[in-house]
Amino acid sequence: MDTLVGLCKRRGFIFQSSDLYGGYQGFFDYGPLGVELKNNIKQAWWKDFVHRRDDIVGLDSSIITHPKIWEASGHVGGFSDPMVDCKESKLRYRADQLFFAPVSLNGEAAGFVAFIEGTEAGDIVKRAKKLRDLKGDKQAVIDEAALLEAPTEFTEVTEEQRVLTLGPDAAALGTLTEPRDFNLMFETKVGPLAESSAKAYLRPETAQGIFVNFNNIVDTGRVKVPFGIAQIGKAFRNEITPRNFIFRSREFEQMEIEYFIAPDADWRTLHREWLDACIDWLVSIGIPREMVTEDVHPTDKLAFYSQATTDLMFHFPHGEQELWGIACRSDYDLGQHQKFSGKSTEYFDEARKQAKQEPFKYVPHVIEPSLGVDRTFLAVLTAAHCVDQAPNDKGVMEERTLLKFHPRIAPYKAAIFPLVKNKPELVEVARKLYEKLQRRWNVFWDVTGAIGKRYRRQDEIGTPFCITVDFETIEKDGTVTLRDRDTMAQIRVTENELIAYLEEKIDG
Ligand code: ATP
Repeated sequence: MDTLVGLCKRRGFIFQSSDLYGGYQGFFDYGPLGVELKNNIKQAWWKDFVHRRDDIVGLDSSIITHPKIWEASGHVGGFSDPMVDCKESKLRYRADQLFFAPVSLNGEAAGFVAFIEGTEAGDIVKRAKKLRDLKGDKQAVIDEAALLEAPTEFTEVTEEQRVLTLGPDAAALGTLTEPRDFNLMFETKVGPLAESSAKAYLRPETAQGIFVNFNNIVDTGRVKVPFGIAQIGKAFRNEITPRNFIFRSREFEQMEIEYFIAPDADWRTLHREWLDACIDWLVSIGIPREMVTEDVHPTDKLAFYSQATTDLMFHFPHGEQELWGIACRSDYDLGQHQKFSGKSTEYFDEARKQAKQEPFKYVPHVIEPSLGVDRTFLAVLTAAHCVDQAPNDKGVMEERTLLKFHPRIAPYKAAIFPLVKNKPELVEVARKLYEKLQRRWNVFWDVTGAIGKRYRRQDEIGTPFCITVDFETIEKDGTVTLRDRDTMAQIRVTENELIAYLEEKIDG
């Protein structure tokens, strides 16, 4: 992960928010390359799930809404994580991310060290040494195998054992509180009133904006069940422990669909179809199929209204974690809004009426594929990052860092180089080609440095194609050199061939 964070900062993909002021935990800024990659991910999703489907329409609803919506959805009452405080440092942790490793000194149980999910083995050992020092026996032998074996979850550690624990921030012994519920919604005030009636929330998901617009969209008459509403937008959660770079942040973006179906529809088959469509989409933006697995939630762990949930998991640098949640949520959300607003959210099914297939009027059920933009960004980056060997300008092999972004989502689609910068005819032809390509795609212009260096710079930011205008172009047949980032193969092509090639690779 550190390599990716470093590369993102160095090349202008992602910066820590408020860097100038020492940073602000859980918030990030996307730099010049990051914003391109992020926009390309969102556009690819919108194109495939909205434009290329007849049964899905788009929406852009407000971030702040009537606060009652969050009562109806259950977020005011239940959108919380169990939180534990460290009494010494005042730092907070999510109880379900806290683990305990047993420390044994000279073969005797001496307590536990607490750590957060994803902590490196070396750091756990360091903590154990600190606990040993606190106990005053610097020579005692630590049983490292037992320490690193299978960590214990917070709920499995008794209160008594917790007193013998070194806090997750390596603060003093026995400093953790009991877990308590911590609501993740950010509160704000709307309007000039300072009273509690003005309290509102920043949305913790985009989904509710879709549900409360269900009637509006049905009334505009373009859609018939089964159909979906898609939305991309910011969501905010006051995560207790934002961590793992952009994987878990406090401000992030979601791409969500609510797919409305009849109550008696074959939701199992539809759920499977959605899972397959989501996996296919990930593959279409360059995520290798083998890096995605499915986590089927056991029936006894599902929310009472949910029929099934399967998460698509991705092999992130910090482990296999949720990327995309695909849930069958029954008629719960529309039903709740009907109850809280006092207005009907029923759908009148004309086709069923014609076919005399009861019920004609019903509250639709939904299948909800919910994906984080930032987690997709991290997945794409993880999959694309690699190091290989390539010859430098003198033909000597050296290490090359590259980002193998799929051309669909790469920040720059191509870079255009005049072979040398001191030949005006050559520069002019190259510049003309650059301006022509620029009308269609985001392309890069570079005249400085040896050609090998210029290739390397583009490899590191994931530009799939480099186009060089050389003497053959201006003196012979107008062809240019097209170089492929991944294979480093070079071919000569005419301008028409070049454009057809780019079209096929980028726009599919
Ligand atoms: P987690 O269990 O990891 O907290 P969740 O199950 O609460 O996630 P959902 O409420 O299902 O997540 O949100 C849908 C999607 O939104 C997730 O699959 C993820 O891609 C994204 N997401 C959720 N929380 C965050 C966050 N704090 N930062 C970045 N992306 C997030």
